[in-house]
Amino acid sequence: MAKKDYYELLGVSRNASADEIKKAYRKLAVRYHPDKNPGDKAAEEKFKQISEAYEVLKDEKKKAMYDQYGHAAFEGGMSGGGSSQGGGFQDPFDLFREVFGGGNGRGGGIFESFFGGGSSEAAQERGADLRYDLSITLEEAFSGVEKTVAYRRNAPCSCCRGTGCEPGTHPQTCSYCHGRGQVVTQQGFFSMSRTCSRCGGSGQVITTPCSRCRGSGAEEERTQVSVKVPAGIHDGAKLRFSHYGEAGRGGAGDLYILISIQPHEIFQRDGNNLILQQALPFTLATLGGTIQIPTLTGEANLKIPSGTQPGTFFKLRNYGMPQMRSSSKGDLLVQVSIEVPKKLNREQREKLEAFSEAMGEVAAGARSVKKK
Ligand SMILES: [Zn+2]
Ligand SMILES: [Zn+2]
Repeated sequence: MAKKDYYELLGVSRNASADEIKKAYRKLAVRYHPDKNPGDKAAEEKFKQISEAYEVLKDEKKKAMYDQYGHAAFEGGMSGGGSSQGGGFQDPFDLFREVFGGGNGRGGGIFESFFGGGSSEAAQERGADLRYDLSITLEEAFSGVEKTVAYRRNAPCSCCRGTGCEPGTHPQTCSYCHGRGQVVTQQGFFSMSRTCSRCGGSGQVITTPCSRCRGSGAEEERTQVSVKVPAGIHDGAKLRFSHYGEAGRGGAGDLYILISIQPHEIFQRDGNNLILQQALPFTLATLGGTIQIPTLTGEANLKIPSGTQPGTFFKLRNYGMPQMRSSSKGDLLVQVSIEVPKKLNREQREKLEAFSEAMGEVAAGARSVKKK
């Protein structure tokens, strides 16, 4: 059986843009989806064919191969050896899900919304997801914070509440399909049922479009959402707000708040631990003592044992970042470096020279002798 040309199947020209190809697929996929044409074998076959055509034409490499070799490009060895037609192609329901996003391809809430009430197929789509980048400080990530995020989105039209009909008017029952959404034609022994082209299958048409939104059901609005950022959140975390995205006839999309944590002046974060670089006077490192160090909850005492070497880490338990949704905390790791004095007065120099001598450091003593 000769296979149909992929471009013909989607009803696009050979130089159609990727966008036009996608649009054409979306329109046809909704029209011929088996859930919308129960028991209609012809529709199911058509659904498979357009899925296959789209799978090839959406992929630059496959499209180039198809343009050059036609169907032969995907037959035999090249297609992965499937014997039935279309072997080696993606499951059309997976592809459908991929293109329309969310839902489960067959049945399910999101999918039903494509086929629910409304005026046309294109208008049945769920609104787009939105993304907002929210930058917070490490202190805010430590204690958790509540922020108000203001943004613009397409919202259901305030005049028609998203129906697209001028207030006071109602969608009319489609006169072509009498509200059934399907048109049945008799062809010999077969009765073929197809989606009504006038109402797109919804069974209703808007005769008086809303004057504010011109029937789209959406308008731009400034809105805001209160974001509770949990304590212990990590850089790059995504918070999802269902239905805070753009409005669509099939429901609103989601809003994703992407958290970024600003670099801190003194603390570095490593998972739930914090790292602090702390310089010690060389005498303190040598003799030992107690110092005060900054933490995210104020100063804390840190005991430095005598003979501490540069690069040594000290751990302050539970002074790190909180673990999200848990009472446990990370640690504060203090890495010490040794400060060498750059200038000495006469008294300091003499004492250090005496110290050096006491340590038996001949070389150091020799150098200081030369200087005099
Ligand atoms: Zn409106
Ligand atoms: Zn109709």
